[in-house]
Amino acid sequence: MSVLVLADIAATGVALATRQAVRAAQHWGLPVDLLVLGSTEAAAHAQIAGVRRVLHADAPRFAQPQAEDVARLLNSLAGDYTVILAAHGSLARNALPRVAALHDVGMISEAVALLGPNSYQRPIYAGNLLATVDNRPGLQILTVRASRFEAAAQGGQAECVAITAPAADGRSRVTGQKTAGGERPELGSARVVVSGGRSLGSAERFHACLAPLADRLGAAIGATRAAVDSGYAPNEWQVGQTGTVVAPDLYIAVGLSGALQHTAGIKDSRVIVAINQDPEAPIMQLADYSLVADLFDAVPELVRHLHTE
Ligand code: FAD
Repeated sequence: MSVLVLADIAATGVALATRQAVRAAQHWGLPVDLLVLGSTEAAAHAQIAGVRRVLHADAPRFAQPQAEDVARLLNSLAGDYTVILAAHGSLARNALPRVAALHDVGMISEAVALLGPNSYQRPIYAGNLLATVDNRPGLQILTVRASRFEAAAQGGQAECVAITAPAADGRSRVTGQKTAGGERPELGSARVVVSGGRSLGSAERFHACLAPLADRLGAAIGATRAAVDSGYAPNEWQVGQTGTVVAPDLYIAVGLSGALQHTAGIKDSRVIVAINQDPEAPIMQLADYSLVADLFDAVPELVRHLHTE
């Protein structure tokens, strides 16, 4: 028996989160296969150390995979695997529970530690508690918080095997897609994240204030839910319990209060810097470095200093 990892293929190749998921998959000491959806080129570049086989399912619909189709495919492969695992991303957290339901097994979501063959640690209550979950023995289906695992190295000699996917589900289809991040690093795996809150006041000011700082640092831009709900930033930028969980080396929180639902998504950051005019704001207690200042003075000043460094 072996472990199957569902790969996430980014524009730049295999996502860092997939290499981290492969490392997590090695926990069971079983052979690890990688399931790659989409073009042959994607499969050819999906070589990760420690992977036995790359299973490649190529069909036009996998250019923009739908959870229904991915669940069907995983379901057709499940009989050969002890564990089906993926990084906790939007596709995996939609597709894997469907497979778990079809097999009448538990779905372990966003495991942060693997304790045994069927025992896991996962955050609950917005990351304020860690639950230890013993799953029933047998097929294990789980997503992992990728940032908690070292990435397996790129490269390897895995055999690439073309597989045939079941017929398309057909109940939904993608009618369009637009990227919100542009040239910036992917939020979930960025080394530096600059996030803004409601206090930015408008979409224009959000961009005008944070983009120069993010450009200077090569950072991804994040936002609080309040900023997203106010229309200052797109949904994809939301960081937190109901957004993306980030774990950068440096997280700069600009004009955001640090509500529990937001900090649930940033706790694994190595260094947190907060800029807020209220010294009592919760983010100031969590931050490694707190600057009590008006963000509209402090951020341009910071950018100016970074330009002269
Ligand atoms: P505020 O809380 O209003 O904070 C604004 C901050 O800006 C204040 O601290 C203020 O002192 C500071 N400020 C104001 N003006 C300036 C200035 N000129 N210079 C410097 N500082 C200034 N939120 C998330 O972020 N992510 C989530 O995933 C998320 N999920 C949620 C899920 C649920 C079920 C619920 C109920 C809520 C969720 N929220 C989430 C919302 C969360 O509870 C907060 O409402 C939100 O994070 C607050 O956003 P904010 O910090 O931008 O705004």
